Amino acid sequence: METVKEYFGCNVFDDREMKANLPDNVYKSLKKTIDEGAALDVSVANCVAEAMKEWALKKGATHYTHWFQPLTGITAEKHDSFITPSPDGGVIMEFSGKELIKGEPDASSFPSGGIRATFEARGYTTWDPTSYAFIKGKTLCIPTAFCAYGGQALDKKTPLLRSMEALNEQALRILRLFGNDTAKRVTSSVGPEQEYFLIDKAMYEKRLDLKMTGRTLFGSKAPKGQEMDDHYFGIIKPRVQAYMDELNQELWKLGILAKTEHNEVAPSQHELAPIYSTTNVGTDHNQLTMEIMQKLALKHGLVCLLHEKPFAGVNGSGKHNNWSISTDEGQNLLSPGATPYDNAQFLLFLCAVIKAVDDYQDLLRISVATAGNDHRLGANEAPPAVISMFLGEELQAVLEAIEKDKPYAGTKKTQMKLGVDVLPKFNRDTTDRNRTSPFAFTGNKFEFRMLGSSNSIACANIMLNAAVAESLKQYADTLEGAKNFESKLHDMIKKTIKDHKRIIFDGNGYDDKWIKEATKRGLSNYRTTADCMPHLLDAHNVKMLTAHKVFTKEELESRCEIMLENYCKSVTIEANTMVQMAKTQIIPAIEKYAEDVAEGALTKKQLKSTIKCSYEGKLVENLSNLADTAYVDTLDLEKAIGQLAKAKNIIDESAMIRDSILPKMEKLRESCDEAETLTAKSYWPFPTYSDLLFGV
Ligand code: ADP
Ligand code: MG
Repeated sequence: METVKEYFGCNVFDDREMKANLPDNVYKSLKKTIDEGAALDVSVANCVAEAMKEWALKKGATHYTHWFQPLTGITAEKHDSFITPSPDGGVIMEFSGKELIKGEPDASSFPSGGIRATFEARGYTTWDPTSYAFIKGKTLCIPTAFCAYGGQALDKKTPLLRSMEALNEQALRILRLFGNDTAKRVTSSVGPEQEYFLIDKAMYEKRLDLKMTGRTLFGSKAPKGQEMDDHYFGIIKPRVQAYMDELNQELWKLGILAKTEHNEVAPSQHELAPIYSTTNVGTDHNQLTMEIMQKLALKHGLVCLLHEKPFAGVNGSGKHNNWSISTDEGQNLLSPGATPYDNAQFLLFLCAVIKAVDDYQDLLRISVATAGNDHRLGANEAPPAVISMFLGEELQAVLEAIEKDKPYAGTKKTQMKLGVDVLPKFNRDTTDRNRTSPFAFTGNKFEFRMLGSSNSIACANIMLNAAVAESLKQYADTLEGAKNFESKLHDMIKKTIKDHKRIIFDGNGYDDKWIKEATKRGLSNYRTTADCMPHLLDAHNVKMLTAHKVFTKEELESRCEIMLENYCKSVTIEANTMVQMAKTQIIPAIEKYAEDVAEGALTKKQLKSTIKCSYEGKLVENLSNLADTAYVDTLDLEKAIGQLAKAKNIIDESAMIRDSILPKMEKLRESCDEAETLTAKSYWPFPTYSDLLFGV
């Protein structure tokens, strides 16, 4: 068996392969594109395509695909084989630069939110050379961006690349002001911690709700949940360990830096975290990770649930988005420096993030909004739906000192003046970590904790990159013209703290008091997708995102529509599934059990008329009442689903989903779950929470 070092990245056409297989000048030219974002030389493409193909053929590949990330939130691929007929009746294996650079998949079946009328079927994919090509099965996968014929982005990669470009441009302006003339590029990086559940496949197959929607729509609590805190970091069961081992291997072969694995808080819940990479590559890798997690589970007789709330009553799954920015010279711009001068620069970047998060809270909330994630945010397990930032005691004290022109305990001087020589050297604050904060500074990066486990991380990183680019732009605009750089810098940092300190909160985010306080501070609190999504089109959001060329107005309108459509469709499928399960499985099971109990009582009475059968009588009455309630609630839900057809537009429909469908689903669940607790297990039509959560 090969060692990890030997097989790591063996299925990736990475830098090692490029260097080995490309002529020197071609390699250099491609490298310039990858590292510095230089335009791609077309003549280079043919050469790269040839080398890629030869490499892929040697690895047993027969097909290639342009791999992309349409707005469905998952990835898409259409496979083409390399074969071309040769005159002698055989085939040769061909792959041109043109085929590498551009593909033309039929775009009509992907969501476009009205950008591309269905009759105009063509869209095109373009090669993203900054993310390495890789082999999956027998297919060479080429990471690509996906656009409509008019050039409008139909995917998540295009705006992500644009947002990285915007951040690069503005951050470089700031670095130049601090005298850095050598950095060529600034990139954002991400390390996403991915949570998931593993359950037994045979049990999964017996539940229509899991199969249709990825979550349980019914189920009474198991006698044991997560209250013993015995699962978190607990010993990993052999069956799960075997899965994790193979998962690591598969990810490593694809050059994905899978690093940490452990059990999570809820029973059957686990986490996998990679070592961070650029937001573009990190996004591609997270998509691949989710795909492989699910595929591989089946091989182990398991199912990997990526839904944000597969089970009521125990924690759901999220994804922590660890984010930072650094230069091509390796300087992390969110890392406090060794010298006061470095620290002035650090503080400016820190302020840029504070300002960005406050100014564009809504965009961050929108970037994580899905029907699934709505079940987590604001419940007592995930950050609230209100965005706030945690900085740690020390940094907060520094900022306060600057704001109030007060002495800071760490300095000898009496006043904090943000000049070159007076800013204190401070330590990274990693000790006091606030787990309830949605957006926490963790020493040299921020951790955005509101993402749902199934979310593409592209969305959150697009908004983060763009919003921070906007802060930096405003800073650069002011500082570039400043007569006295240092005093202007000081004023600006001070102003940022004054204007945006409302977003900083270091208390318990799960506390109801905080929600009240946040409202007083004027922070937004959007409980659901239906509430927040329309704000994507608020004037100041559109203005910022279009100014940095991250989205066009048309693209934003289409995305808003697609996300709301997605919300409505997901919940409608859930509602329909509930109706079907209640009518064809749950109510019949309750009835059958009640009937058998009643019959048993009658038999007993016939045997001896003095037997009271009061237990049976009471139980049958209870079950019968619950079945009645369940039936009425099912019809009520069914009727409400029918009403959706009357919605005037998608915003209207999403409000109906929030105000009518979801509450009725809750209501139907109540009687069914209670009946489950009264019904003999052998009568219940599908595996229970105890079976599912403790069945692996
Ligand atoms: P936690 O205690 O939250 O599990 P870790 O220290 O294990 O945090 O790190 C979590 C993630 O943060 C990892 O994926 C790690 O690679 C990532 N990370 C570390 N440094 C950076 C950085 N500069 N930019 C982005 N992500 C980073
Ligand atoms: Mg974390």
